[in-house]
Amino acid sequence: MYVTHLECSKTGKTYEPNKLYNLSEAGKPLLVRYDLKKAARTLTKENLKNRVSSLWRYREVLPVVNDENVVTLGEGWTPLLPAKRLGAQFGLPQLFIKDEGPNPTGSFKARGQAAAISMAKELGVKKVAIPTAGNAGGAMAAYAAAAGMEAYVFMPRDTPAANRIECEQLGARVTLIDGLITDCGAEVAKRKEAEGWFDVSTLKEPYRIEGKKTMGYELAEQFNWELPDVILYPTGGGTGLVGMWKAFDEMEEMGWIGSKRPRMFSVQAAGCAPIVRAFDNGWDEAPEFENAHTAASGLRVPRAIGDFIMLDILRKSGGGAVAVTDEEMIADTRVVGAAEGLFCAPEGAACFSGLKKLLASGQVSATDRIVLFNTGTGVKYLEAYGLKEAR
Ligand SMILES: *Cc1c(COP(=O)(O)O)cnc(C)c1O
Repeated sequence: MYVTHLECSKTGKTYEPNKLYNLSEAGKPLLVRYDLKKAARTLTKENLKNRVSSLWRYREVLPVVNDENVVTLGEGWTPLLPAKRLGAQFGLPQLFIKDEGPNPTGSFKARGQAAAISMAKELGVKKVAIPTAGNAGGAMAAYAAAAGMEAYVFMPRDTPAANRIECEQLGARVTLIDGLITDCGAEVAKRKEAEGWFDVSTLKEPYRIEGKKTMGYELAEQFNWELPDVILYPTGGGTGLVGMWKAFDEMEEMGWIGSKRPRMFSVQAAGCAPIVRAFDNGWDEAPEFENAHTAASGLRVPRAIGDFIMLDILRKSGGGAVAVTDEEMIADTRVVGAAEGLFCAPEGAACFSGLKKLLASGQVSATDRIVLFNTGTGVKYLEAYGLKEAR
């Protein structure tokens, strides 16, 4: 047992471990804190060489107490690909892609849901519900099935067919909503008490961040404990951004890395760019983005509850935020695909579109060591690539 307490990300108020939580009393995300000195006794760089090839290799800094409650489908420990051909085409000698497509259910949402559903299992939850732009629902449905829980998924009617069909085939009850993920969230919030559902919405539950933070641990380990100069992250709710930053701090506290941090850049779709707008205007929070629209369903999050944490990280790291159009990301899917043999999700391709803009504006230099996150597989987005509605 390594978790000491949970902490409100806004007020710092502490909460006891091993209980079910959604938001803090201040209505903000809760962060899990560990006894990192104790964790560092067994979790060592040396010991990692013999650990499982999944995110559970970082077992001591994951919140589940009893191993029996770990629900796993082999998530994490994904490839960090040197993008040599793409890099050569654009004069970028140190370009890398962290490819999250091989995760269970085809996206990095598997990381967060593996941790959240394992904790829900440990704490006796029988029914889970989620509002989703697509991939989080599929991942939740998968881990809920593996844990023997009932899953209730609420998604916008225009979510890619693959997401909807996947949830149904994984045994979840799917409700389609005429609206955005925020409308789906309102529906879950309205019904959860009466239905006895535990809400696993992005950042409204403390453990998804813990699963996603393992991307930060993996990057450090795969780069032999030297973090890259620049990270481009396609940002919706921001779990990965918040999680990786947390991982960097934890690794520093364990003495694994120094105080140097990558410059973190948030990439969003021009049709839904609340974080970019807030960053550019110097705001500490990101108000709802009106009429949000983009084919990159993972980026269709008009209002993120972790906005203030993300904006702080982008500024502290010396990074920034950049918006790209759907046309740019769809076109760049083929550029990345043909060069690297990797069929990216539009969200992943968006990172490459964003990188070109950051190079042009001088915010990133060609010689930087750059990591793009391909957060999922393009196979789940066939409509975005021209296929007519599957049904
Ligand atoms: C959810 C999602 C994102 C956004 O991730 P956050 O951590 O919520 O910002 C990006 N890409 C894909 C493919 C997603 O499913």
